[in-house]
Amino acid sequence: MAAAEPRPILPGGTLGILGGGQLGSMFAAAARRMGYRVEAISDVAECPAARHCDRLHVGDYADAAFLARAAAGLDVVTFEFENIPAAAGRALAASVPVRPSPDVLFTTQDRAREKSFLARHGFPCAPHRAVRSRDELHAAGRDLGFPAVVKTAAFGYDGKGQRRLESVTDLDAAWNALGAAPDGPRELVLEGWIDFDCEISVVAARGLDGEVVAYAPSRNAHAHHILDVSSVPAGLPPRVEREAVDTATAILTALGVVGVACVEFFVTRDGRVLVNEIAPRTHNSGHLTIEACDTSQFEQQVRAVCGLPLGSTRQRLPAAMANLLGDCWAQGEPDWAAALAVPGVGLHLYGKSDPRPGRKMGHLTATADTIETAVARVLRARALASRG
Ligand code: AMP
Repeated sequence: MAAAEPRPILPGGTLGILGGGQLGSMFAAAARRMGYRVEAISDVAECPAARHCDRLHVGDYADAAFLARAAAGLDVVTFEFENIPAAAGRALAASVPVRPSPDVLFTTQDRAREKSFLARHGFPCAPHRAVRSRDELHAAGRDLGFPAVVKTAAFGYDGKGQRRLESVTDLDAAWNALGAAPDGPRELVLEGWIDFDCEISVVAARGLDGEVVAYAPSRNAHAHHILDVSSVPAGLPPRVEREAVDTATAILTALGVVGVACVEFFVTRDGRVLVNEIAPRTHNSGHLTIEACDTSQFEQQVRAVCGLPLGSTRQRLPAAMANLLGDCWAQGEPDWAAALAVPGVGLHLYGKSDPRPGRKMGHLTATADTIETAVARVLRARALASRG
């Protein structure tokens, strides 16, 4: 007899979110609007998700007893941050469905494992080598040539734990800074430098039945390794956009994701579409779906993890998103009234109290009839807010 389809988790149910950051906060807001209860599981009490949750469980992700207590009463758990021990996901999965599965978290939270998954399935990515020692790093440098970029395999995001190498003379300093650690060598990944034309990403969702829906690719501009501005449509040749959507769809399927994931790509000057990394969750480049699309990425995450039909990803208007980093507070509290006077602009603040440089405090989204106007509006709003 065929296994019964799991029944959808309907409004009134309780959804758990592992991690308490802004992605969890926006997930919780979407879920509560749809009539769900939301409980966040975080290792810090003062977190953005706390404002939008019915309950916050604060404890250590390595504490199995804490996780078991938190799981009681939850119908499903998803996550908003991948730097959570996969073991925590596995501990939760003993008592409640965890979507995407902890195996997806395990593969994507480590660059070496992620790259080997991509290579195994034939997905195009930058030339790379995983290394565990100074000698292996030198050998990889000889193989791949320069410039190159070296990254810690685990616990990197927003450019943390990585540096560009210009020549063989940079290898020792890079190993000392990133590879050598008092508790033993850390695994690193050396990547060939990609002379890209632009960076894009595709946010997609996969349901319990295996259906995948994808949003249109977003063009992403970074500043100091942190996402700065996203804009959709990306304005790339249809072949490039189709290839990115098809690759993202195939990756979600190969990983068996149930939920939302984002695939980031480099588009090279000769039109190749190379996977940079996979985030098994909603993504900063998908925030503009809140204002611009029939279904936001956060509602889509709720639908996917609850086993509901996925929503339309149709985009109603061109849109651009600009991050608000702590730097915008350099001249004091930003002038929100000035930013909101710009037509078509929406403000999202995450409720963080300490505006450190580089810290994501919020974002602005602008919609307009053309993408050029949307980008101009969001940049103008941010400049006015920052009194820049
Ligand atoms: P990541 O944390 O791997 O997404 O890297 C952060 C940013 O660094 C990317 O969005 C790129 O702008 C840049 N970067 C990372 N890897 C490479 C590469 N192999 N070639 C060129 N630029 C890269």
